[in-house]
Amino acid sequence: MLKTTTFGTMPDGQKVEAITLVNSNGMQVTLLTLGATIQKWCLADANHTDIVLGFDSLEDYLNDTAYLGRTVGRYANRIAKGRFKLEGQPYQVSVNLQGNALHGGSQGFHNRVWRVIDTQQSPSPAVTLQLISEDGDQGFPGTLTVTVQVSLDDTDTLNIEYRASSDKDTVFNPTQHSYFNLAGHDSGEVLNQHLQVLASHYTPADESGIPSGEIRAVHGNAFDLTQLRPIGEINQQDDPQLRQTQGLDHNFCLDGFDESQTQSRLVAVAMEPVSGRKLLTRTSMPGAQIYTGNFLGATPVGKKGVRYGAYHGFCIESQFYPDSPNQPTFPSTMLRKGEHFHSLTSYQVVE
Ligand code: BGC
Repeated sequence: MLKTTTFGTMPDGQKVEAITLVNSNGMQVTLLTLGATIQKWCLADANHTDIVLGFDSLEDYLNDTAYLGRTVGRYANRIAKGRFKLEGQPYQVSVNLQGNALHGGSQGFHNRVWRVIDTQQSPSPAVTLQLISEDGDQGFPGTLTVTVQVSLDDTDTLNIEYRASSDKDTVFNPTQHSYFNLAGHDSGEVLNQHLQVLASHYTPADESGIPSGEIRAVHGNAFDLTQLRPIGEINQQDDPQLRQTQGLDHNFCLDGFDESQTQSRLVAVAMEPVSGRKLLTRTSMPGAQIYTGNFLGATPVGKKGVRYGAYHGFCIESQFYPDSPNQPTFPSTMLRKGEHFHSLTSYQVVE
């Protein structure tokens, strides 16, 4: 089932809708057309536990700097100094964090109103949102047409499928920026929740999150998350990479990447030890930024008046590696004129 309501009106008069997907188990996911944002993910349990952080009003989303639930683009994560070259041509894109470009620049996809171009009731409720990012948007070349299809199936899996094409060579790196708290968005820190990431390598970075280019093995160091481990214990390890970001905020090179991006594979498991509830992440993408909400602040106030703070949610942001346009050894983020980009990411709740 699909239900659509009006969520609010943008300062320029555009309407923002909230679309709720309900599967046959009674699980509900609400998406906003602002930023193709996951606003709520309510389980079918007695408390309707809502496992993602979010806000109740459009105004709060417009004041949000933590990207709660947003679809991020044109380039998720960082581009050093916002500069890169394509076929020798230099580009300067919007810089919005410590002199670097973060999450597509100051007016990235997360703050745009996406258009609903398709809805579907069966076999699973689904909605397809489209955004046309004009040539030069935030400094990026080419008019890029992006769609994201979101569906909620009867295995309690939220499937996210990105497609894009451009009329000039460009770079493209979308992600989903939900902050999960498997005990409920209103239950405080996630430090006792466990995390496993199926990655043999990660990309060490400087204090502003720009990778050095090294692809470092996780074996024998703090970044070995190949077994389930409590987030608090991971974050407290004595490692300079973890210290400089006050916990995990790093890109992992997920095992089993296949450039064709036709299939997703299991890349991460999260577990809440009291209920035993799990979240399985699958993706076709090569990397994921694993971020434990280290810099989350108390404003804007969250849903139902809940004040969020540091470590109240974790993010598993499937993506290409940060700063790939400047790192020739990383999988390429180049989207050539006329080519069709396609990738899959899904999150499944298992009780
Ligand atoms: C980044 C963090 C940042 C957060 C919110 C994550 O993807 O890696 O450094 O604080 O997004 O912008």
